[in-house]
Amino acid sequence: MKKTFTKFSAGNEILAICYCLYLTLLILLVCQVPGFSFSMYSEVDSSCQFVDTLYRFIGNPVEQAKCLLRPVRPYGNLGDKLEMLPEVLEKNIGQPFHLSRSQIEKYLRQKSIQMSDIGGPLSQPLSRANDNNEKSAAAGYLVIHDTSTPNYQYEAFPENINAPDWKYNDLQSWKQGNQSKAHIFINRLGESVTTFDFKDAWRATKLEVQILRIKSKGLFLHVELIQPRRSDPSGPNGNDAIAPDPGFTSPQLKRLALIYLVASLRRGEWLIPAYHAVVDAGIPGAHDDPQHFDLIQWGNLLEDLIGEIQNL
Ligand SMILES: [Zn+2]
Repeated sequence: MKKTFTKFSAGNEILAICYCLYLTLLILLVCQVPGFSFSMYSEVDSSCQFVDTLYRFIGNPVEQAKCLLRPVRPYGNLGDKLEMLPEVLEKNIGQPFHLSRSQIEKYLRQKSIQMSDIGGPLSQPLSRANDNNEKSAAAGYLVIHDTSTPNYQYEAFPENINAPDWKYNDLQSWKQGNQSKAHIFINRLGESVTTFDFKDAWRATKLEVQILRIKSKGLFLHVELIQPRRSDPSGPNGNDAIAPDPGFTSPQLKRLALIYLVASLRRGEWLIPAYHAVVDAGIPGAHDDPQHFDLIQWGNLLEDLIGEIQNL
């Protein structure tokens, strides 16, 4: 009798625990507790969750940027969602583009910058999702990468990585090479080359290729900043966890600001910048780029560039 009672009691306890768990899950779902989601992307990061039907991440454009521009640390460890962006980004992202094409063309002429260096003609629209389906959303994200190449492993970085004679600053080798392609590569001298025009739908992240698939093809633009890596002596053999510090050069970040600006012109709206590592967060084998991206410095350079163009 006692044995039977014990069994009955244990069963009740299990039922009670299951019921409590069910209630807890129900409350989390109904209340949409931050950080909790039942979607297939919950393990990625619910705060940057991509909403398939809307072709965007959760939140308004500025909120999305605060999530997608979280600091990227070695091994792809991410910092917290940003509480604020540099003012120039906070006030412009998602807003109508406010500089005229003729002003920008004048700037390009003065600086002898070819449109073929910065993603193609300014008169052309950007790519669209669903592999350039004309009824699908226009590209809304500028994904920032670092090439993480070459890996000097346990050697020091060469002294000349920011000089013309460092062979990885030769843009033609990136355009012709077999590296994972992006729309544009920017070298450490602040020069750039277009591999694919911004009207060409192209994918370069695991989120696009492995999860969202064809629907995302054309929604993201990809820019690679050339930056070498070396190995962390305390990490796995041959790892590429260490980037130069400071990371990118000022001319390199200024060219990225120009490319962001012309892509936004072609969109008619300021795009949402995003780091590759954050876009792919939580996906096995996710990359860890860009390392040592100075968002405040980039914001300052963008603000200066806007002022420079407006005062021509
Ligand atoms: Zn990348």
